Amino acid sequence: MRSSLVRSRRFGSVIEAVGNTPLVRLDRVAREAPSVEVYAKLEFCNPGGSVKDRAALRMMTKAIEEGKLGTGKILIDSTSGNTGVAYSIFGAALGVPVRLVMPSNVTKARKDIARAFGTEIIFSDPMEGSDGAIRYVREIVAKDPDVYFYPDQYSNPNNPLAHYHGTGVEILDALGDRITHFVAGIGTSGTIVGTSRRLKEHTRPIRCVAVEPTEAMHGLEGLKHLPSSLVPAIHDGSAYDETRRVTTEDGWDMADRLAREESLLVGHSSGANVFAAVEIAKELHQTVGGGCVVAIVCDRGDRYFAPMKWEKRYLW
Ligand code: PMP
Repeated sequence: MRSSLVRSRRFGSVIEAVGNTPLVRLDRVAREAPSVEVYAKLEFCNPGGSVKDRAALRMMTKAIEEGKLGTGKILIDSTSGNTGVAYSIFGAALGVPVRLVMPSNVTKARKDIARAFGTEIIFSDPMEGSDGAIRYVREIVAKDPDVYFYPDQYSNPNNPLAHYHGTGVEILDALGDRITHFVAGIGTSGTIVGTSRRLKEHTRPIRCVAVEPTEAMHGLEGLKHLPSSLVPAIHDGSAYDETRRVTTEDGWDMADRLAREESLLVGHSSGANVFAAVEIAKELHQTVGGGCVVAIVCDRGDRYFAPMKWEKRYLW
């Protein structure tokens, strides 16, 4: 590699390594749309391995600034996994104790990662999914409000603001006037709402597309089917232009293709985002013959190497 291409980044702590994630061009999975550029924003390059590092870190540092945390209080929240890993990493870095409520059927690897950073886990009913975990954490906090700081990622404005001040700025900085479309899934909706708000301030119009799972009950991990869920308070449907539904199977299939064709091992919510991005690229190729679509790659696929999921797919 030429030395001029080597960029060394030196940080004072793990906290400073959050954000500024790479944008990588996807040529092979989008080969049916050769006139359109498709990029993946690799959020798994954050220190906690997911897009949730941004929101967790901003919610924690703002709470410390406001005196709501860092005074011996325990941070408690419900999480499907990635946010919990992020709280755990930054809890260890900032000296904040962390307690997480999660459905008991989350993968062992996820529990182990959180515990490795010193986090305590409380389990909620797996049949009630993430909505049940949210209800449970609210009960715990209501009983002992002085003991806990509850960031509540579903209602905390610092969740979308992390993307408004981070993800959105970085995408515009890298692509400027070229970007025409942005695609992200809806979990808490922090990523799509915050990033879209920033992109909508750009002088050129950028179409922002949210991805939801088709299936109401067994949808993509990390993503919500809003019509059948508690709608997060931070959700703002006017921040983006369109919602596309993607099946779990299409999310998995695109995740497989991304590994084999683009050397990117990603989770299936990322697969779903890229699937929607490639569909948009194909439409643009046929109608206007050009465009530039950015899809969020939320986390890495090895986070889902768990009994059942991958083994069911690859019967080796
Ligand atoms: N994908 C994965 C794998 C996630 O963990 C999450 C967050 N739970 C999302 C997508 C959605 O991100 P957001 O909460 O910002 O909507």
